[in-house]
Formats: sequence, C-alpha cells, structure tokens
Amino acid sequence: MIAQVKGWCPAAWRPMAAGDGLLVRVRPAFGRLSAAQALGLATAAARFGSGAIDLTRRASLQLRGVAEANWRPLVETLVALDLVDPDPAIDAQAGLTVAPDWQEGDDTHRIAADLHARRSDWPALPAKFGFAVDAGRACRLADTPADLRVERSAEGGLMLRAEGQATGVALARGEEAAAAIDLARWFRDTGGDASRRMARHPVPLPGWARGGVQPARGGPLAAGPHPLGSLYGLPFGRMSAAALGTLVARHAATALRLTPWRLLLVEGAEGMPVPGFGLDPADPLLAADACVGAPACPQASVATRELARRLAPHVADLHVSGCAKGCARSGPAALVLTGRDGRFDLARAARAGDPPAETGLDAATLLARFGAC
Ligand code: SF4
Repeated sequence: MIAQVKGWCPAAWRPMAAGDGLLVRVRPAFGRLSAAQALGLATAAARFGSGAIDLTRRASLQLRGVAEANWRPLVETLVALDLVDPDPAIDAQAGLTVAPDWQEGDDTHRIAADLHARRSDWPALPAKFGFAVDAGRACRLADTPADLRVERSAEGGLMLRAEGQATGVALARGEEAAAAIDLARWFRDTGGDASRRMARHPVPLPGWARGGVQPARGGPLAAGPHPLGSLYGLPFGRMSAAALGTLVARHAATALRLTPWRLLLVEGAEGMPVPGFGLDPADPLLAADACVGAPACPQASVATRELARRLAPHVADLHVSGCAKGCARSGPAALVLTGRDGRFDLARAARAGDPPAETGLDAATLLARFGAC
C-alpha cells in the first residue's frame, strides 16, 4: 500500500496525498538536471501525473496530480533517470541545498560532493531537517530554510553555522562535511527529534560548534542573464511539463539548475523568451507569492493563484495564502490575503494568519478594491 501521509515532508518513495492527487518530491544531486533528465522528468510528469511541476523554496521539484496506480511506475522511471535514489531510506534523508551558482571543483561543489558521498554516515534526522552548502564569494542561501550551513565567512574562509545563530565556527579545508555531520549527530543525540528544527532546539551548542565567525553577506539571484546562462522565473514556482520541455529544447540546453527562489538556471542559455517563464526581475508576477490553494490543498478554503495573478500588477509585495499556514512565504508582505472559511482576511505588513485589518472579503471585492477588474 502506498504511504499517503498528510502533513509530512513528501518524498518520492513516501508521497503526500493532496487535493489533486499524490505529490512526489524529486531532489536531484547538486540541484542539477541534465537536459536528458529534465526531458525525462517532464515526460514522466505528464504521463503519470497532471503535468504540473512545482519548484520549492528548498530547490526541489514536486510532481503533482499522480494517481495511486501511477505512483510506482513514476518512481521507477525517476530511479532509472537517476533522479531518485533506489533506496527509500536514502531518498527520505535530510535535504542538501547547494548554492546554485557553484562551478565545477569550487568549494561549494567540493563540499556538497563530500557531503553527498557520505550520505550513509548521516544520522536519521527529522523530515524537514536540511543542510545548506553556500561557499561562494557571497552567501546566497541566508534566507533559504536549512538547519546546518557550511558557508563562506566574511573573512573569506569557510565556516559552520547552526540555524538560529548569527555566527559560527571556522572550518579547515577538507573537514567541512565531517563537521556538519558531527553537528547533525549531536542534534540527534541531544533530542533533536522532539525539536525537529535546529533553530528550535533548546540545548546549547557544543563548545566546538560555537564561535564568533560572521558569514559573508550576499543575497539571492534574480531572473535574467547570469555568467552560467540565464535565470528563468516561474510564477508562483509552477511550470507545466510542456513548458519545461520547451525550455530545454529551445535552448538545446545541456543542464538546468534548481534554485530556492523560483528560478531555473539554464546553463548556457542566452535568454530567449519561453512561454510560462519570466526573465524580467521586475515582473510583478515573479514578485508575488501564492500557495497552491484550493482545490489542490485540502487545508485551503479559497482559490489563490488566479486572484494573485490578477492582483499582482496592481499590488506591490503581495502574498495570497490559502490558509494561515503561509506555505508560500514565511516572512511578511506589504499586503497579505489569508483564506478563511471561503473568504479572505486582509492584513498589511504582515504574515499569513496575522491579525487582520479586514475580514470576510471575497475575490470580486478585492479585485475591485485594487483596480484589477
Ligand atoms: S498555506 Fe496554502 S498550501 Fe499551505 S497548507 Fe495552507 S492552503 Fe495549503
């Protein structure tokens, strides 16, 4: 019987039941898919699922709308494409997010490869626990969810930092992966299962993991040209299998890299427009956030994305959330609309679910209010 579990972090071998069918997560090694893997995944998403593919805030892919009878053939296809580990225990391990602008042989690539090769040494960790490797000149992943970070320090060295700490400890070259795994073991051994996330873990860090080293400043990448190719934005993190196929074919792309910012980095691409993707960092659709909403999410009582799509050109910094959980954005937005009992609560400079300024608004009222009719 398929493990259909609501509220878990989904995996390929442990899909989550959603309102539109099973949801199957795919986490390619180093966040990179060859063109053949991307085309194979697009074909499988259309054949075994609805063809809807989401790019998550942890730079993984989720294939949606998979019927129960199609789940095993889909996973077997993904294993054959080397996109899913054949061992369900390895596939379900903690996440490893890699700064997507790595280059072959640089520190980010070297450390991520070392961590990846040692996966059999990783302790069992809570479902949402994750490592981040972010060792370029500037830290890119500071706002990306992770629990243990191997980063570039402000002084230019390498460092290990536990989530929730502003600073960390310096690392010697070559010891980065081992140190991160040791700290993950410490987390597990000191009751991490109950805390679930490092930032909530009440036990003081061991002395060797405490230090005053500052991470280098940086920030996320933006849509448009990049030294490695072009970054294509996905409105609300969603693309269709057909659009993915077109993106790869139109560029004769060699590979794609996943980012945690709803952007795909197409290696070697020169920025040809492709329907379904945005290349303009000022595109309001790329700036707005909206979760999947109803009917795909059972927790939602409202549809979200069509409303967000229409409001986005009229509202700067918009978040439309199907419920108070706020999956699409954890931080505040200038305007947040939160679904509740089939209508919306409106709040300003707030997170989803924060105390609203207005309640009981329907979509038509909101469209009229912001001039989007
Ligand atoms: S925020 Fe959206 S996707 Fe998340 S649980 Fe609520 S309705 Fe579902």
